[in-house]
Parts: sequence; structure tokens; C-alpha cells
Amino acid sequence: MLDWLEQSRRVYNYALRERKDWMNSRKCQVNACSIRSEYIITGDTPYPNYYAQKRNLTQARKRFPELDAVHSQVLQEVLLRLDKAFRSMQKLGFGFPRFKKYGQYRSLLFPQVSANPITGWQIKLPKIGGVRINLHRPIPDRFVVKQVRVVRKASGWYALLVLESDVSIPDAMPVGNAIGIDLGLEKFLAVSTGKLVARPKFFVELQSKLKWLQRQLKDKVKGSNNYRKAQRQIAKLHEHIHNTRKEFHFLTAHQLCDGVGMIFAEDLNFIALGRGMLAKHCLDAGWGGFLEILNWVCKKRGVYFAGVNPNGTSQTCPNCGVHTGKKELDVRVHHCESCGYITDRDVASAMVVEQRGLTAVGQIVVLPVEESRLGTPVKQENLGSDQGMPTLSA
Ligand SMILES: [Zn+2]
Repeated sequence: MLDWLEQSRRVYNYALRERKDWMNSRKCQVNACSIRSEYIITGDTPYPNYYAQKRNLTQARKRFPELDAVHSQVLQEVLLRLDKAFRSMQKLGFGFPRFKKYGQYRSLLFPQVSANPITGWQIKLPKIGGVRINLHRPIPDRFVVKQVRVVRKASGWYALLVLESDVSIPDAMPVGNAIGIDLGLEKFLAVSTGKLVARPKFFVELQSKLKWLQRQLKDKVKGSNNYRKAQRQIAKLHEHIHNTRKEFHFLTAHQLCDGVGMIFAEDLNFIALGRGMLAKHCLDAGWGGFLEILNWVCKKRGVYFAGVNPNGTSQTCPNCGVHTGKKELDVRVHHCESCGYITDRDVASAMVVEQRGLTAVGQIVVLPVEESRLGTPVKQENLGSDQGMPTLSA
């Protein structure tokens, strides 16, 4: 399997080189040659897209026995992965795909497996045969294994299974109590009910341990046994941090789902654009991962989940809807000059998120304030549904 990973990496890098060369060759000046070097890819050479590369791979497998030793579909998936990377770059603005260094290619995807590859204590992989496994949980009834991804991690090898079933699950309907959440940098998140979830402390401890190990690595001779040992320790710690973060995300997501019917959060696509400089911080905080997990947990628990436009959530008063102007990051309290409402800054944002979400699903939000004090008229009809919405006190 190690050799398969290495062959996959070679195919990936070759295919990437091919595409890069083609692209660079189109950038040559048409009326002048550079002094040093010039691309000799002719003008009518077609772009090496996925299908062309797949055809070439079939040819290459005849010439190179080490490529032929790898399952053909696994290598085709490598090309597909590169193709996806290019498409994400064009459509989603991801970075340019990079060459993978030795050991950086870590997973093999088997897109098709035999009907029943798990036999309780081993998994049957195409061309590899039976591999002994530690089955963490049984395959549920009426589910069929469709794909297997073999991943190499610091702590060992894992097989991730994609299961399929013909059961259709109805989408959750927007009913019941609603909450809005606001992801923050200081706090992990704030809920519109006033609850604040702090960033867990053990992350700081793990991070400092990581720093310490990385300093240790610097003193070692590159390539020595001790260097490799330290490297392995770092890899293991990275995996541990990843696992703990994921567990914390799952726990938080389940806690949020308790007793509610709808959850609204900020749409991450908007965040990345809107906060510019802070985008890197957001990624560090693992917001994207959390929202993905929250989405999944909501689906599992039958809770309606939707994202809303987060622009200016911190600039609106949740009590009266008045635009309060931009708050600096160090202002922690929301104090409305118009209605005198005071609450935590992040909780205020979460309340605005909730109100926007409710508006989006067609429920009429009635702000809990007298009409006379508002500049804009408030819709008075409450649809008679008492679903945890603020009621009109006028
Ligand atoms: Zn106000």
C-alpha cells in the first residue's frame, strides 16, 4: 500500500506538471523568444484534461510495470482528484494545486468494491486481497458498501467506507423553537438564547506542546533516527489535536440540537468574503469544519439548518432593528442608543442571525418593542403560531 501511495503521488505530480506546462506555454510571447528557454508545446496541442490524461495513463501502464502493479481505478481516481482541484480553483477560488512531496499523498480511493467486502475481521480490497481490520461498528442493515478510501495516518491505516441505501430521508421542516448562532474569535460561539460556548482550554495546552515538539525537531540532525522520531511524534500530536477538535465540534453540535427545531448560522461563503483580513483566523478556529458537522448533526437529528447572510449582524440592534454603526472588535457589549437594550455583543449578533433566518423561512418576525419608538413600521400580524418567537408587546 505504501508503494501504491508513492505511485499515486508520481501520477499526480506528472499530471500536474503536464497541465502546468501546457498553461505556461500559452503565456509565451508570440512575437519574441526568451533568451533562456522556450516551451516547445505546439499551438494545436489540446489541453491535457481528465480524459486525455486518463488515456495517457492507460498507455503508460503498458510501459511501466510499477504503474501496472497498482489497481487501475485507484490511479484514475488520482487524475480525477487533480481535475477536481483545478475545477475548485476556477470555480471556488481555491489555490493552485501543488506538487506533493514524498509522503504527502496519503489516501487511496477504491471507487468500486465487491458486493460485500467486510467479513467481520477483514476487508477485501481489489487487487490487494483480504486485509485484517478492527471493525469499529457494524455495517447497518440494508446498507451496501459503495466505496472504500484507505487512509494512512500517523497512528496507522484506516479504511473509510461510503455506504448506500435506498431509504429516502425527508428534509427537516422549519418548525419548532429557533436559535441563531454567531461564531466568534474570542468565544467559540454565542447562541441567541444568551448562552456562550467558550473555546476549550486544552487546545491551548496542546498547541504549546506542539510548539515545544517543533522546537525539539530543529535541534535534531535532519534525516537522523531521532529526527524521524520527533517528526512522528509531531504527526501523532497533530492527529490528536484534529481528533479532539472534531469531538468537541460534535458534542457542541449535539448540545445545540437539544430541544430546538431550527438552527440558523452565518453562511460561511459570505464570511470569507466579508471579513477579509480575519478570514485566516476564521479558518484557524475551524469554523468551516464546525458548520459542516453541525449541518450533518442537524440532518441526523431532524433539525432544520440554514445559513444566513452575516453582513452587518453586529451592527444591528436585535431589540429594535436600528442600525447601530460599526463596533470595533474590542467592544464586547452591545448597547443600543435608540432603545437602551444591553447584551453581550456576540449574543446580539446571534439574535440578529436568528431573526434573519426566521424571515428567510417565511415566519414574520416581530421585534419586541413598542411601535411608536420605531422609525419603520412593524408588521403586527402574528400568524398565531407560538413557536418560540418574540411577541409584540405594543
Ligand atoms: Zn435597540
